[in-house]
Amino acid sequence: MKKKRQTKIIATIGPVSATSEMIEALLDAGVDVFRMNFSHGTHDGHKQVLDRIRALEQKRGQPIGIIADLQGPKLRIGTFEGGKIAVTKGQSIRFDLDPAPGNAERVCLPHPEVLDVIEPGGKILLDDGKVRIRITEKGPGYLIGEIRTGAALSDKKGFNVPGIVLPIPALTKKDRVDLEAALGMGVDWIAQSFVQQPEDVKEARELIAGRAALMIKLEKPSALARLEELLEFADGVMIARGDLGVEIPPEDVPPAQKRIVKTVREAGKPVVVATQMLESMIANARPTRAEASDVATAVYDGADAIMLSAETATGEYPLQAVEMMDRIARKVESDENYQNMMEAERPDALSTSADAITTAAYYVAQDVEAVLIVNYTMSGSTSLRTARQRPEVPILCLTPNLGVARRLKLSYGVFPVHEGENIDDFTGPARHAADIALRHGFIQKGQRFVMTAGVPFGQPGTTNILRIAEA
Ligand code: PGA
Ligand code: MN
Repeated sequence: MKKKRQTKIIATIGPVSATSEMIEALLDAGVDVFRMNFSHGTHDGHKQVLDRIRALEQKRGQPIGIIADLQGPKLRIGTFEGGKIAVTKGQSIRFDLDPAPGNAERVCLPHPEVLDVIEPGGKILLDDGKVRIRITEKGPGYLIGEIRTGAALSDKKGFNVPGIVLPIPALTKKDRVDLEAALGMGVDWIAQSFVQQPEDVKEARELIAGRAALMIKLEKPSALARLEELLEFADGVMIARGDLGVEIPPEDVPPAQKRIVKTVREAGKPVVVATQMLESMIANARPTRAEASDVATAVYDGADAIMLSAETATGEYPLQAVEMMDRIARKVESDENYQNMMEAERPDALSTSADAITTAAYYVAQDVEAVLIVNYTMSGSTSLRTARQRPEVPILCLTPNLGVARRLKLSYGVFPVHEGENIDDFTGPARHAADIALRHGFIQKGQRFVMTAGVPFGQPGTTNILRIAEA
C-alpha cells in the first residue's frame, strides 16, 4: 500500500497540456485539481478542456476539481511604435491617456482613474518589476516619471502600483463575462485576482450565488492587510506570489506566506501556494535546488495545495514538473519533524459538536493506530474541520454531493468519494465505508479506521457520532 500524499497538486492547463492524453498523464503523475487560466484562451477552448476532464473523471471514477482563474484588473501600458523601446536609468518618460503608439518619450497608460491617484514621489513597477519608475511630476491627464532601473519596455507590459488601494473594481467587464461562462460550464472553484477589500469578495460571492466555491488570490498589500476580513467571504485562498512579489519586497514574501497559511488553516479553509515553484522546469528536466527547497517549504508551512503555472501550461516538461512536486511533497510528509510541526501549529477547536467530534477523531485515530479517518458528510464541512487538524492519516470523505466532492479535492489529506446516498442505519455505514476504503487502497483487511457521521443520515450539519471500526 503506497502512502497517499496529503498535500494536493494543482496544474494549470495550457497549450502543451490541453489534450485528453496529456490531462490523463498529468492525473497519473499526481495532479488533484486543474486550473484553467481565463487570462488566456477562449471560452470554447476552456469548455473543451473541461469536457475532457469530466470524461476522465467518469472513466476513472474519481472526482476531479477544476478552478477557473479570472484575470482581474491586471493593469497594462499601451503599445510602442516599434513594439518596444530601450530605457536607461535617469531617463524620463511620460504616461498619458493618448492611445497612439508610444515612443522613447511617452506611452499610453489607459487607466484615467489610476493616473488620478498616483502622486509625485510614488512608484510604478513595470514588467513584473523589471522596470522601476519614480513619479516626478503630475498634471492633468499625465504623469512624468524617472527610470530608476530597467533596460527595455515593450507593448502591453503589466504595471503595478504598490502600496495604494486603486479605485478600480476587482471584477472587470471581461471577468464578469468569463465568470458566467465558467459557472455555466460547471467549474468547481472561481479564483478572483487582485482583490483589495472585502467589498470585492462580497460582490463576487453574490454573483457566484453558490454555483461554485470562491478562492481569493492574495497579490496586493492591501489584501494582506485585511486578510481576516476578506476570509469571511471566501472559501479558500491562493498566495499568488507572482504579482505579490512585485507589489511587496521579495524578502517580505516568505514571512507573508507563513502567516497566510497559518491564518487560513486556522479558518478551516484550503490555502494554495502558487507561482514560480518549479519555474526553471519550463525549460529544464530538473529543478534548481532552491526551487526544490521552495516546494518543500510550502509543504512544511502546512499548505493544502501547491500549484504549477507555466510549468504545465507552456513548459517543455509538464509531467516531470508534477512528478517532481509529488516526490518533494512525499519526502517532506515522511519527515518525522514535519508531523511534529503540523501538530505544533494545530489550531484550537471551536466549541461546536462538529469540532468536538473531529478533534476526538483526530486523537482516537492516534490512540487506536487507525490508518484512516472516514467522514460521512453532506456539505463537506466535517472534512474541512478534519483537514484543518492536518492528521497524519488520510481523510476519506463520503458525500452524496458531487460538487462538494470536487471542491474538497483541494483540501489537505481529503480523498472525496461521491457515495453514501442510501445509508439508513449505523452498522451498514461502517461496512460500506470499509468496502470503499479497501477498494481505493486506503486500508487492508483487519486494520482500523475512525468514522464520523451524523444520525439521522442525510441531514446536513448533524455530525454527532464517532465510531472505531475495522476493515
Ligand atoms: P497569475 O496569478 O498567474 O494569474 O498572475 C498568480 C500570481 O500572480 O502569482
Ligand atoms: Mn497574478
